[in-house]
Amino acid sequence: MMALAKTKPEEGLWKIEAPIPEIGPDDVLIRIRKTGICGTDIHIWNWDDWAAATVPIPMITGHEFAGEIVELGRDVTGLPVGQRCSGEGHLIGQDSRQSRAGKFHLDPGTRGIGVNEQGAFAQYLRLPAFNVIPLPDDIPDEIGAILDPLGNAVHTALSFDLLGEDVLITGAGPIGIMAAAVARHAGARNIVLTDINSDRLALAGHVVPSVRTVNVTEEHLSDVAHELGLREGFDIGLEMSGSQTGLDQMVEALVMGGKIALLGIPPGQSPVNWSKIVFKAITIKGVYGREMFETWYKMIAMLQNGLDVSRVITHRIEATDFHHGFAAMKSGRSGKVVLDWTRQA
Ligand code: ZN
Repeated sequence: MMALAKTKPEEGLWKIEAPIPEIGPDDVLIRIRKTGICGTDIHIWNWDDWAAATVPIPMITGHEFAGEIVELGRDVTGLPVGQRCSGEGHLIGQDSRQSRAGKFHLDPGTRGIGVNEQGAFAQYLRLPAFNVIPLPDDIPDEIGAILDPLGNAVHTALSFDLLGEDVLITGAGPIGIMAAAVARHAGARNIVLTDINSDRLALAGHVVPSVRTVNVTEEHLSDVAHELGLREGFDIGLEMSGSQTGLDQMVEALVMGGKIALLGIPPGQSPVNWSKIVFKAITIKGVYGREMFETWYKMIAMLQNGLDVSRVITHRIEATDFHHGFAAMKSGRSGKVVLDWTRQA
């Protein structure tokens, strides 16, 4: 089969010919139709310090996918061959306290496909049946291929009750933009999305027209809050930028007793102004991955009930032209880039 893999410890990914994965008794084999390129894949492409320390070589990358089940392991029940699906890319153990409590996403032994296990940028993927998410007919493959990052957005946005609240989102990458769409769907009042990249803010305005975008190099958040009539500040913050400045601005702009969900990953150790957080009585929650499987349930329900994130996909590219997809991602001006595998026979 054709696959995209990291085969040497240097910048790039390479098209390889690999054997079709063998599945175990509890696995399924999925024929891949569409995949999304993630920021994680860019780290692996660039072979930065994180990737070099984390990813064994050779590794087929990619973890955002939609496809079709073509083979079932001996012990798999309840999933038919031919089932369209996406899947949770975090593979977990069943022995930890959290797993045994049903909080699978908090298992400390999580391993990621495309990072620690062979991934989805390939014609075929082996996945535990436990991780399979069947796709309803009204959710197309290309949306199935971005459910992983949409799930990050949903998990973060639904961390706190958004109904009627004023929400500040820092970072207008694809996940920040999708979080704005989710916040709108979940009934927030004002949604303000900040970044320093005007291309991304323009895309955000295109995906969620009712969001107030703010380029913080040009406008002050306090002026925007005033313009919107927020007397005391934003109620909820969703931090998606991983930037210290973004977090500082968020803490400053929040009400007393505000709440922050943190998805963005700051580089190294960041100097946080904790006293401000204490004196403002702010609650902070770290968010990792998606809740297994409540986030998936809510996300699919919202997609079936009018949540539309399709315009966040800005590039649809043949898998063999993956170079162009990665170049678009690295330009910092793209939304989601989806690779099409359906013409690989
Ligand atoms: Zn991802």
